[in-house]
Amino acid sequence: MARTFFVGGNFKMNGSKESIKTIVENLNSSKLPANVEVVLCPPAPYLAYTAELNKQKTVQVGAQNSYTKESGAYTGEISPVEVKDCGAEWVILGHSERRGIFHESDEFVADKVAFAIEKGLKVILCIGESIDEKKAGSTLDVCERELAAVVKAVKKDDWQHIVVAYEPIWAIGTGLAATAADAQDIHSKIRDYLKSELGELADSVRILYGGSANGKNAPDFRDKPDVDGFLVGGASLKPEFVSIITSRE
Ligand code: PGA
Repeated sequence: MARTFFVGGNFKMNGSKESIKTIVENLNSSKLPANVEVVLCPPAPYLAYTAELNKQKTVQVGAQNSYTKESGAYTGEISPVEVKDCGAEWVILGHSERRGIFHESDEFVADKVAFAIEKGLKVILCIGESIDEKKAGSTLDVCERELAAVVKAVKKDDWQHIVVAYEPIWAIGTGLAATAADAQDIHSKIRDYLKSELGELADSVRILYGGSANGKNAPDFRDKPDVDGFLVGGASLKPEFVSIITSRE
């Protein structure tokens, strides 16, 4: 089953008008492959700015978080409806920094996924284990537990609007990416789990790798059938982001 290659840029809490303009203009002036879907996720205050600067048809914009309510007295929260209104079509949910630093539970993440989809956003759902969980051999258990909460919260059809990002926490921002072989191994097991829950639909769900992906290591993953793209943090702020986007050419 052909799955469109997907590259997300998670800028995290890094941005200024100047730096975002440089990143988007670099993409605007690059020859990007027509068959790669790219999603830029700037900090929320720059969503509309990023969407307005973007001139590439294959590039879309996403938020890094959204809440379970459309509007109201939720100071500081981000509504998926507002995200859409700013010209963004995606949202990253369940990132390990949100689960860890902001104590987001599996159920809360799952509720946010369900609500974002109900309001017409598409979701990059992050999952992945810590170094201790990896050492304890529970990588797959953690991924399945995080996915199971979402399986429970959304309708089967909603999975066509979800991209899964496997991001081992020990690989995020450390320069120590998983090997392509290890990523393929866990991605195929994640797909097997999704198959057990969703049946054939699981073949169309894209599973991205995230965690110190960069221009240099991205080509290593090119022959891995279950690695359908990348979610990129640090390197998405640099010109090498383009080499990740073109790494399947
Ligand atoms: P990194 O971050 O590429 O800087 O490791 C990835 C992520 O957290 O999405």
